[in-house]
Amino acid sequence: MLVRNTLIEALPLRAKSGSVGLVLSLEGARYYVFHSRQSRDQIVSNNLQKKIALHHELLHGNTPYNDAQGQKKYQELFPFARDIAAQTYIDPEGRHAEESMIEDWNKIVQDFYLVRGRLPRKADVFLNFCPCQTRNRNPSPARALDNINYPISCHEKLKQFCLTGNRLKMKWSIYYEQQFQDAPILNINFCNLKVMRLPPGIAMPV
Ligand SMILES: [Zn+2]
Repeated sequence: MLVRNTLIEALPLRAKSGSVGLVLSLEGARYYVFHSRQSRDQIVSNNLQKKIALHHELLHGNTPYNDAQGQKKYQELFPFARDIAAQTYIDPEGRHAEESMIEDWNKIVQDFYLVRGRLPRKADVFLNFCPCQTRNRNPSPARALDNINYPISCHEKLKQFCLTGNRLKMKWSIYYEQQFQDAPILNINFCNLKVMRLPPGIAMPV
C-alpha cells in the first residue's frame, strides 16, 4: 500500500505494467494506491510461455512458432515450473486491486485516524478498469479477506464491503475509466454506494 497526500502524486503510481491499479481518496486528505497481483500459478504460466517462445526463437529464428508444439511443451514443463515456484515466497493467491484495498482497510483507517483524529466520512475510488462481475470470464473468486468471507467478483465484494462495518456510515463513489473484458459496464446507485464510469470531461492528472 502506497500513501500520498495529493491525487497528483498518487495517480501516476497507479500505472503498473501488467496490473490493474486503484487509488482510494479519503475526503481528499489521504490517497492510498493498490495494484492487482497475479497468483503464483499465473506468474509461472506467463513466464513459462515466454521462455518456450524465446527457446523457439533462439533455435529456429524467424520460422513460425508452432502453437500445438508449444502447447505440448508447456503441458510437459508446467508441473516442474510449478514445483520450483512452490519453493519460493511468491504468494499462491493473487489479488484484484479492489481486494487488496478491502484487505488493508484496517491499516487505511488507522492511517487516516492519525491525520484527522476520526473515521473517514467519504471515499472516492479511481480505478482504471470496471470492477469484475460474475459475468466476466475470470472474476475474483469467493474468498476471505482480512478474515471476512466475500463472494465471487469484485462488484459483489465491494457491495458487501461498503454496506457493512464502519464503511456503512460513509459515502462511497467508485469511478472507473474502461470496460473490463466484454462485461457490460456498471452503473449503480445503491444506499451509500455509487459505481459509475468516470464522467467524460473529467481529465485525470497523469
Ligand atoms: Zn476484480
